[in-house]
Amino acid sequence: MSDDTLLDRALIRLEEAANHLQIDPDVTEKLKYPRETTKTRLLIRMDDGSRKSFLAWRCRYDDTRGPTKGGIRFHPDSTIEEVETLAFWMTFKCAVMNLPYGGGKGAIRVDPHGLSKSELERLSRAYVQAFANIIGPDRDIPAPDVYTNAMIMGWMADEYNQITGQVSPAVITGKPIALGGSLGRNDATARGGFYLVRHLASELGLDKDHSVAIQGFGNAGQFYARLSAADGNSVVAVSDSAGAIYRPGGLDVEKLIAGKNAGRRVADMAAELGANVITADELLAVEADLLVPAALEDMITKDNAGTIKAKVLLELANGPVTPDADKILDGKGIIVLPDILANAGGVTVSYFEWVQNRQGYYWDLEEIHQRLLKIVEREGRAVWDIAKSRNVSARSAAYIHALGRLSTAIEAHGTQP
Ligand code: GLU
Repeated sequence: MSDDTLLDRALIRLEEAANHLQIDPDVTEKLKYPRETTKTRLLIRMDDGSRKSFLAWRCRYDDTRGPTKGGIRFHPDSTIEEVETLAFWMTFKCAVMNLPYGGGKGAIRVDPHGLSKSELERLSRAYVQAFANIIGPDRDIPAPDVYTNAMIMGWMADEYNQITGQVSPAVITGKPIALGGSLGRNDATARGGFYLVRHLASELGLDKDHSVAIQGFGNAGQFYARLSAADGNSVVAVSDSAGAIYRPGGLDVEKLIAGKNAGRRVADMAAELGANVITADELLAVEADLLVPAALEDMITKDNAGTIKAKVLLELANGPVTPDADKILDGKGIIVLPDILANAGGVTVSYFEWVQNRQGYYWDLEEIHQRLLKIVEREGRAVWDIAKSRNVSARSAAYIHALGRLSTAIEAHGTQP
């Protein structure tokens, strides 16, 4: 890989879209840099009585279109660069879906699997203590991301309420239902991608019973497998961070999910599922119509993109394909449904959660699904039409769509400075 940083590579997409729209350089100058990134160290007491310190960040990338919005990731490899890039992607993701938000992101550099539940709670609360002046229902609204979940959002919301002396559920989304979370938020990332694929299936050349390979079996990957299998498709390969399995005739998705929830790895379940254990790179190259990267960024690179046989890629992860790999996929005629559209179901239902919190009136699941479907189909179709009319990739089209909205908003704010 070149010396370019993750953010440099992400900004290539901005430049491309700006060229297509002949955007005023004043607009791109604003979007090239994060507005503010705060770094701190969280010092917590461990169960054995010792103290331990963890690096943490929160980035508010751009708030032109509304309060900044984006998840908090707990990961041992998190860096400031990653946080800022993820916040850049959130800015464009919210604009693609026309949500009234800018983009933000946060992280703690930690392997949460090495912590007890009470250590995890102290760390989550310490994060909110450190960033209480940065977050807020009208300022910056966190949510779950890699290795964080509803339980952690519940602790964080509670900590914020204690600090402010008010009950402000809208400060964080992805909360437990009992604390003002929304129905349908848990599977929303996968569901948004699923609705998108179903809506564009004939344009994508995907049959009703297509085959699917999924890289990553966390929240997004598991729920995608469930929704897709229940709709008559065949999930033939899945992986997690420890290994991958393949069964050309299709895997028993419910058994896999049950095993995963019981703390097992997918490769350990191969024999009972009648599957073969394969390598992570082999998973990318299996015979499947649809490949769903649902793990981390930079998984598909120029070194493995050439082996991919799928017709379509659905990016449920953020940034799984590098720009070099994108060119290879494009050359092979593989359609990539880009992250800022494909996984935007999560932040869209986060938006519904925030709306419900603010109005104090809660919708049933059917209403959530209908509203999500409407937005995914509307914005998915708009992106597809731009791709066709301008003869560009779906990724470029999504950036063009988002940048149009961002630049209109930036100009509407006036000329200062
Ligand atoms: N972490 C998710 C994402 O990357 C969801 C963010 C949110 O709901 O605010 O889109």
